[in-house]
Amino acid sequence: MVARKTKVPEARRSQILAWLEQEGSLSIRELESRLGVSHMTVHRDLDKLSELHVVKKSRGGVILAPQNTPNAKRRVCAMCAARVTDRSEFIILRSEESQVNACCPHCGMLLLSEKEKADSVLARDFLHGRMVNAYQAYYVVESDVRLCCVPSMLCFTSRSEAEKFQRGFGGQAMTFSKAVAYLTETHKHDLR
Ligand SMILES: [Zn+2]
Ligand SMILES: [Zn+2]
Repeated sequence: MVARKTKVPEARRSQILAWLEQEGSLSIRELESRLGVSHMTVHRDLDKLSELHVVKKSRGGVILAPQNTPNAKRRVCAMCAARVTDRSEFIILRSEESQVNACCPHCGMLLLSEKEKADSVLARDFLHGRMVNAYQAYYVVESDVRLCCVPSMLCFTSRSEAEKFQRGFGGQAMTFSKAVAYLTETHKHDLR
């Protein structure tokens, strides 16, 4: 079951991130055996993730990257040209090895709905500051906390955390696809 899924690079990289979020660090050997892929494949996946500054490779192992990378500060949103911050960063990974940065899930989702399908999409969890699989994350839309774009959209790893946040700060908690639909509706409305 797992072996079949791990043939897709995107699924494999998301899985590696999920393990790292739970365990903090992993050895290359451990990854090879868990994923049932070659040494080279593990290294390629980790190189890809480390280019995005989400992980840090060490000799024989990998850890989640520390939050404040100098590179993140210099990035600019491809949608609104705002500076990309460590709080709400959203990264669209394309198959042809290029990456698109957005300042927040709001801009990231607009970019995704305008352009072709991405290979992998990562969003920074608002509470924990970690990069997570954007498709599997939950979003709180139009809460009292506004970091950049309106309607504001914050990313949470789990539904329970999103709902807890919603109780404290208002807004609506929803899945990725609901959030995209919400955003497209809002924008259509604005254009009329
Ligand atoms: Zn933006
Ligand atoms: Zn933004």
